[in-house]
Amino acid sequence: MPTIPAAAARAAVPTPGAERALARVDLGAVEQNSARLRSLLAGGGELCAVVKADGYGHGMVPCARAAVAGGASWLGVATAAEAVELRAADFEVPILVQGALTRTEARAAVEAGADVVAWREGFARAVAAEAGAGTTRARVHVKLDTGMGRLGTADPVEARAVCELVAGDARLELVGLMTHFATADERGDDHFPAQLERFRAFVDEIRSAHPAVIAHAANSAAVFRDPAAHFDLARCGIAVYGLDPFGEDPAARGLEPALALESHLAAVKRFEPGWSAGYGRTWRAERTTWVGIVPLGYGDGWRRGLSNRADVLVGGRRCPLAGTVSMDNVAVELGSETDARVGDPVVLIGAQGEQRILCEEVAQRLGTINYEVTCGLLPRVPRLHEAR
Ligand SMILES: *Cc1c(COP(=O)(O)O)cnc(C)c1O
Repeated sequence: MPTIPAAAARAAVPTPGAERALARVDLGAVEQNSARLRSLLAGGGELCAVVKADGYGHGMVPCARAAVAGGASWLGVATAAEAVELRAADFEVPILVQGALTRTEARAAVEAGADVVAWREGFARAVAAEAGAGTTRARVHVKLDTGMGRLGTADPVEARAVCELVAGDARLELVGLMTHFATADERGDDHFPAQLERFRAFVDEIRSAHPAVIAHAANSAAVFRDPAAHFDLARCGIAVYGLDPFGEDPAARGLEPALALESHLAAVKRFEPGWSAGYGRTWRAERTTWVGIVPLGYGDGWRRGLSNRADVLVGGRRCPLAGTVSMDNVAVELGSETDARVGDPVVLIGAQGEQRILCEEVAQRLGTINYEVTCGLLPRVPRLHEAR
């Protein structure tokens, strides 16, 4: 006979003041992960902490601060607006805007004193025109597309022409040469070494005329994969947040996940066999059991694709999601023997007791990557930044 505790015991109201759903971000972990990455860059390579997309969903400014405290000496973003926000928060380190910019955005980036990326002469001339009004030169990195097939020119002759234009214009400063890997996280493939070779040849050629120019190519995966890809600067995002660039257990690479996603049991109810939970009745009780309602859903970024596919932690135990994820709620099966009660904490990402749920696990259940899981947490979930 399963023990079913008295329903009356579960009628408590959740702790007043507690958040419905909360993403805790451990800034000590961000600092440690940055220090770890920095230590891997032998030979004086610098760390550019990539904090775009609101710090991969972790909160851009607090994470940027922690990364700098951990040894990052550059910050990387995708958009001009992100660079402007960092400057408004008083960061003085170089900020690299990695994305493609409109003329208006290029002006904003230059005004913020951020570095921009060019691969066409027309864009470099536009940046020069924007810089003309200012007192300092606009800092430019030239991007060669060595096989990512995204931004940058795939033609080394064109890339060289852009370098010469930038170096020869008094309003511009040729700061860096860059490329980006398509398969750094696929160990053993032959595209990565081919990209590395193409980039090295380009760097050697440009440096023979401009010896002070820096080179950078590595993302997080490339830093772990091959020291030959480190060059002068590594642009690391995912690993700064303690997430594994290969989708494996971050602990194996000395990384500590910074983000935990927490909620609580808003309701605990007894289900008879055959009762269903949620839209479409995609889950039914097979026996008499207890179901907990957790007040967060796809309106918070806890994706509907996780319906009946993920576990959460309650009372230090894994409990499976029961039924379709709604916009604001999800049900979990607590089992026929549970002492769970209303208000009990629920961990969706993170540790509770001996158990833990990695972001990498959630990503796998969704058929995506850890990057998308944290970037996908919506603003409705407050971020609580905790120092150590
Ligand atoms: C986002 C981005 C990075 C960071 O990549 P991670 O895999 O998160 O380390 C580096 N370089 C460029 C050009 C990027 O767009």
